[in-house]
Amino acid sequence: MAPDTAFAVTPIGVGAAYGRPGEHQSCYLVTAGTQSICLDFGAGALNALCAIARPEDIDLFVISHLHPDHFIDLLALRVYMVWGPGAGHSIRVAGPPGLREVLAAFGDDGLGTAMQIEVLTGDATATQCGGEIEISHRQVPHLPPTYATRIWFGRRSVCFGADCAPNEALSEFASGVDVLLTECSFGEAEIPTGAAHLNAHAAGDIARRAGARHLLLAHCFPEYDIERSAQIAAEVAGIPVAPARQGQTVQIL
Ligand SMILES: [Zn+2]
Ligand SMILES: [Zn+2]
Repeated sequence: MAPDTAFAVTPIGVGAAYGRPGEHQSCYLVTAGTQSICLDFGAGALNALCAIARPEDIDLFVISHLHPDHFIDLLALRVYMVWGPGAGHSIRVAGPPGLREVLAAFGDDGLGTAMQIEVLTGDATATQCGGEIEISHRQVPHLPPTYATRIWFGRRSVCFGADCAPNEALSEFASGVDVLLTECSFGEAEIPTGAAHLNAHAAGDIARRAGARHLLLAHCFPEYDIERSAQIAAEVAGIPVAPARQGQTVQIL
């Protein structure tokens, strides 16, 4: 594989807590050399992921936080790993405290064998994945704790901002990133009081302060216009901005 094509992110699901027809919930596949990492695993992620990869071959799953649209398909994945094609394999899942207990509440048969669950703690932490990959996590303001994740492959990097309110932590964490992927729940509209989410302007502002080279927008409620949102964020950030599109791989160059 050529070096300039070895690092990429493929949106598997770009939807929010409820989505447009055909949208799956939050899930992004990062491939780096021979390794692959799945960020989040919301509803619909398992079916969509199976179209392009074998879940049991994914080196690491990272769950940003315990809102259902970011992890709920792990319930289906447990069944796949215990009774389906994944039987005999074990996958690594890193997520917030409480993830194991939430999954077990829906059935723990085979859970401990099928999934090696690692707990993310503290404000900043790292997860080892071997090879040339470096993975770090930083808390962002949303359902506590919610973790943004940055993945380095050599000198290039991608940062997934999870769900978050406007904040300084993400722009610091994503400083100089090649591809920043953020939520854009409220699109071109104002952020309602009390909602710990971004709109297009806030996403663009985080990208501008981070000095990101490219911004991808996702997790936009269907009432809002994601194309218009990308235009607004691009005006704020002064960099290329595009909606994340399911199945459309973005090379991290
Ligand atoms: Zn969400
Ligand atoms: Zn959330």
